[in-house]
Amino acid sequence: MRAVQVPKAKGPLEVVEREIPEPKRGWVRVKVEACGVCHSDSLAKDGLWPGIQYPRIPGHEVIGVIDAVGSEVPDWKTGQRVGIGWHASNCGHCDPCRRGDFFACQVELLTTGISFDGGYAEYMVAPAKALASVPDNFNSIEGAPLMCAGITTFNALRNSSARPGDLVGVLGIGGLGHLGVQYATKMGFNTVAIARGKDKEPLAKKLGAKHYIDSQSSDPAAELTRLGGAKVIIATVTNGDAMASVLGGLGPNGTLIVIGAAGPVPVDSILLIAGQRSVKGWYSGTSIDSQDTLKFSTANGVQSMNEIFPLDQAAEAYDRMMSGKARFRVVLDMKTKS
Ligand SMILES: [Zn+2]
Ligand SMILES: [Zn+2]
Repeated sequence: MRAVQVPKAKGPLEVVEREIPEPKRGWVRVKVEACGVCHSDSLAKDGLWPGIQYPRIPGHEVIGVIDAVGSEVPDWKTGQRVGIGWHASNCGHCDPCRRGDFFACQVELLTTGISFDGGYAEYMVAPAKALASVPDNFNSIEGAPLMCAGITTFNALRNSSARPGDLVGVLGIGGLGHLGVQYATKMGFNTVAIARGKDKEPLAKKLGAKHYIDSQSSDPAAELTRLGGAKVIIATVTNGDAMASVLGGLGPNGTLIVIGAAGPVPVDSILLIAGQRSVKGWYSGTSIDSQDTLKFSTANGVQSMNEIFPLDQAAEAYDRMMSGKARFRVVLDMKTKS
């Protein structure tokens, strides 16, 4: 099969021929149809995650068809369309797993494209636990980014304290944010998009935002306060200062949910205390959360806007994603040849 691997930390993405892998006990093989290119692929590319074994095939926004099933996989059959996201497996019996905190598994936390080879390939193998069922009318190439960017924004919002009608902010209108605005709107929130400059306002409004705040020409915290204060803001940007600048725009007991990996965020303790505001992070979710994301997206017309590349051009696709200029996600289509 053709695959794109990282030969060593900080090495180039290289197109190679590989043996088609066989699924072991509890795993399946998937013929990949599409794989999104996510900023977190840089963790594998640049060796920023501890313990990665190279060469490694990145990719954790995968849609494909089950092509072979290993032993002791009761629930899945060849021919079923499935998605595979970031969270691939957890042990199910350690203390965090027993409490339902699968992201905190201490025994067997497997991450697609990090712990094992991912979707920058014509075929991949994955634990059956990683699989999300894909709706029949779902377009693989258009939908692949929902397996990470989609689930992360969808799951952060649906597990937040916001209720229908509440003012909910989406900070940053990019790969995550353009999906966040759609989910927030379809969930019935009074959605406010916050981004730098005026140019993203028409798109944000088209995606459903009731309000738009240009954080360059105005103070976003003051503008949010004028709208009544946000119950929740999801921060999709990768800039800690931008996150800090909206904190004062949270209403009483409001929460800033961080999903953009930005390093330190300078938080004003007075703002936390005075409004009982909080800042928390959100981890994407498990395979059933992915399945819910796909179902909700199909039912409500939530769509990712993508730039499509053939697998052979994975390096160009990756550079395009890293440039921050893509509108808005980048997807590898296994069917097209360059
Ligand atoms: Zn991702
Ligand atoms: Zn566990």
